[in-house]
Amino acid sequence: MITIDGNGLAAKIKDELKSEIDSYEIKPILAVITIGDDESSKVYVNNKKKACNYVGISFLHFDYVSFVKEAEVIKKIEELNKDNKVSGIIVQLPLPKGYDVNKIINTINNNKDVDGLTNESIGKLINKEDGFIPCTPKGIMSIFDYYKINLEGKNVVIIGRSNLVGKPLIQECLKKDATVTICHSKTSDLKSYTKKADILIVATGIKHLINKTMIKKDSVIIDVGINKVNNKLYGDVNPNVEEKCSYLSPVPGGVGPMTVVMLLQNTLTAYKKINGIKNE
Ligand code: NDP
Repeated sequence: MITIDGNGLAAKIKDELKSEIDSYEIKPILAVITIGDDESSKVYVNNKKKACNYVGISFLHFDYVSFVKEAEVIKKIEELNKDNKVSGIIVQLPLPKGYDVNKIINTINNNKDVDGLTNESIGKLINKEDGFIPCTPKGIMSIFDYYKINLEGKNVVIIGRSNLVGKPLIQECLKKDATVTICHSKTSDLKSYTKKADILIVATGIKHLINKTMIKKDSVIIDVGINKVNNKLYGDVNPNVEEKCSYLSPVPGGVGPMTVVMLLQNTLTAYKKINGIKNE
């Protein structure tokens, strides 16, 4: 069994990004909008900030109170859209109740949508056009590439159908010619699907939903879940799957660090596009 080293792979990519960004006199800028006091969001945003600092991306944080007027946030995004110095814009989700998430996200100019969540980015993903792919699916696909895990003809089962993870992953796996099944909370007899998965990707937010009795021998298991219990992090997959699977992405240290590094990569891509810098 091979444990996927998300930390190691993310560190390697970060160093590559850092050395490229070091060569640019004017640095990329990532603008991050937060609303309210969600504790998990604070941790995620801080991780993003640290990673940006490391590679040399300037981090602009607009931290709004939970009762800020939606129009004020929209106005700020419109300003950032127009500002050529700003390469990428993200709105940290979830937002407090009462905000029109779609409206806010879709205000972001597509060229700066480094989280890949606008309707335009989603359309491009489906039509296989050049656009931003959401960071978690992109990180998972990078793991497959790095570990030479071939998806062609494989049964990929994804548990979780969020816009952030499950839905974009369908497109990414189809691009690699996998046969894709997506399960969710209303799926009956989940095990009958997971048992058939050559590659199982789990993103539910339910601690240890999947255990060794539910997986196929020698399958690849990608655990996206982050569940904090008594200050300790757990995935959606029970580590006892190790006895049976061929690869496992652990929690912590698997998909999480890859997600952050893909945000940096998307921000650099946006910067290069805006500044007309071609890839070598
Ligand atoms: P959402 O809450 O948006 O989606 C969860 C999905 O899981 C839903 O589609 C839901 O089904 C499904 N689900 C819930 N219960 C079950 C069940 N018993 N059986 C099968 N499916 C079920 O979460 P996200 O996609 O945003 O995140 C999922 C997890 O991944 C969370 O733990 C989150 O913290 C983590 N995460 C980790 C990231 C990382 O970088 N490592 C990045 C993003 C998320 P339904 O649609 O029917 O409600």
